[in-house]
Amino acid sequence: MTHNNLQTIAEREASILAPYAMHSSDTLGRRYDEQQQSYRGPFQRDRDRIVHSAAYRRLSGKMQVFTGDMGDYHRTRLTHTHEVSSIARTLARALRLNEDLVEALALFHDIGHPPFGHAGEDALAECLAAEGGFSHNQYALTIAEQLETRHQHFPGLNLTEEVLAGQATRVDKSATEISPLLEVQAVEAADSMTYDAHDIDDALKLGLVKFAELEQLDMIKICQQQIASRGDELGEREYQRAIIHTLLDCQVTNVLEHTSTALTQFQWDSASAARQSDFRIGTVGEIAKAKKQLELFLYERVYRHVAIVKTRELAQRQIQQLFAVLVENPEIMPARFVEHAEQVGLPRSVGHYIAGMTDRFFEQQFLAHVSQ
Ligand code: MG
Repeated sequence: MTHNNLQTIAEREASILAPYAMHSSDTLGRRYDEQQQSYRGPFQRDRDRIVHSAAYRRLSGKMQVFTGDMGDYHRTRLTHTHEVSSIARTLARALRLNEDLVEALALFHDIGHPPFGHAGEDALAECLAAEGGFSHNQYALTIAEQLETRHQHFPGLNLTEEVLAGQATRVDKSATEISPLLEVQAVEAADSMTYDAHDIDDALKLGLVKFAELEQLDMIKICQQQIASRGDELGEREYQRAIIHTLLDCQVTNVLEHTSTALTQFQWDSASAARQSDFRIGTVGEIAKAKKQLELFLYERVYRHVAIVKTRELAQRQIQQLFAVLVENPEIMPARFVEHAEQVGLPRSVGHYIAGMTDRFFEQQFLAHVSQ
């Protein structure tokens, strides 16, 4: 039922979105047919389903780079996700892309992360090596298509084809011959800008790196020039904070300038026309080069810092131990994972169970069943 005072989703999008955006009326729909709603478009509905899922809530208990015992300042997987969503929506609005789709994709993008971040992923990949490994991006699709049980009529969240296909390009970049939707590209670009900035911020705050080291990096020099050009008088703390938001600002500005030049040049008249192009939303030129240098620094000085490596090794060992115990004693798992094993095999089902755990729930399970 459409109320007379309400603009339809299609009308609203036609007046706001660019022709090259993914319009809701062009969606390929869902695997299980559902009635459309008059007050919410398909991608808004996806976003809401993601936000209401158990897997999404658990992101608050999953680490991004730094663990819970390192304090409360740094990002969790959930706050990282919010920051990505915020920046991706900024890009989408400026470029007149479909913000609802971008938000759904962003809120969904890390939903498959196991406990203990990439260490958890590596451990599960080793445990499941004989079964084809483990990828958190793939596991996000498993959550969306099989594991979440919110509706009686279908398994999973029954998300639109566009959100699932967007996530699938994260699993395998060469999965499609044509380019991903511009909305998917915007989220990808936002993800990397976000973690570059917040990992620097967190590492500084935790004392893993010193500001003097950062000042050697081209990206930080670019930020310093911008701050100097504004002429503000800043104390040490304010100055460091200004560096972090300038780091985001100069990347967003670079991406938007580059993309809007391309949009003027190509004049795509539909989302599918844009997908035929090799163009990619991302940083270019001096900023892209400086970003690479910054990421190498993060990799060498932060992600491989002794404090991080120690946590990683411990988490990996513990995940492998709990995995082995659960494969030996599957009855420890909730009944639905015992049943799930009938479809996907026991090792994979154990992997799916562990991957869904928060860091703290994992530790409880480890204490209860391994380290007695
Ligand atoms: Mg991410």
